[in-house]
Amino acid sequence: MKRRRTIYEGKAKILYEGPEPGTLIQYFKDDTTAFDAKKRAVIEGKGVLNNRISEYLMTQLNAIGIPTHFVRRLNMREQLIKEVEIIPLEVVVRNVAAGSLSTRLGIEEGQPLPRSIIEYYYKSDQLHDPWVSEEHITAFGWASPQDLDDVVNLTIRINDFLSGLFLGAGIKLVDFKIEFGRLWENDYMRIVLADEISPDSCRLWDLQTNEKLDKDRFRRDLGGVAEAYSEVARRLGILPESTPPSGGGPVLVK
Ligand code: UDP
Repeated sequence: MKRRRTIYEGKAKILYEGPEPGTLIQYFKDDTTAFDAKKRAVIEGKGVLNNRISEYLMTQLNAIGIPTHFVRRLNMREQLIKEVEIIPLEVVVRNVAAGSLSTRLGIEEGQPLPRSIIEYYYKSDQLHDPWVSEEHITAFGWASPQDLDDVVNLTIRINDFLSGLFLGAGIKLVDFKIEFGRLWENDYMRIVLADEISPDSCRLWDLQTNEKLDKDRFRRDLGGVAEAYSEVARRLGILPESTPPSGGGPVLVK
């Protein structure tokens, strides 16, 4: 059998050569890392859930006109995506204070923000993804002012839409990280949403109890990581194909 060519291997995903030019296959691993990859574990089933959750969110975003790299899910752990030139930025949106915002600025975790805040981090493992401003981004040419304008406009729409979508599932979208890429079609370029959107890259809290349903369960050793991710999938009305039916066997239909 012909081995597929690996294009890139990250901490939680692998990108393989796609079936035709301009496409890639994105494979979701069970590996999970935090704190600059100093903390590592394998969370069984996480990749399957993230593949499914990200497929769902990208598809819904596409339906409201947000361009994404997503083409279709291929199987439990893989999806076909369009090859894009990744803009080297982690775009973080915050609706409620948490994580590094709370520690850096001394704002109590859980405090709603007066308005949604967008932050940028320069993607560089070597530099530990430093916080950067629009000035740095355009001065160093990581994105042009026009690119950044598109990124901001798309990010605001994505935040509004996802906040509403999660609210409908009884979940508070506290914050999340997204990435964008340049998609070239002949001489024409447009900015599209890339990477993934999953409980690995979002903070998701139960609306009633503020219970964490995201990667903070791993970061903070709260346990029940895979259970929390599957709860998110369940509330969104999607569950991986492999999930056994709940309950104790066949039920007599009267
Ligand atoms: N995030 C991410 N990848 C990163 C850093 C952050 O997906 O490399 C997400 C994180 O899950 C959270 C949001 O971005 O939903 C904001 O993260 P924060 O800056 O608070 O950093 P953290 O506390 O995760 O170090």
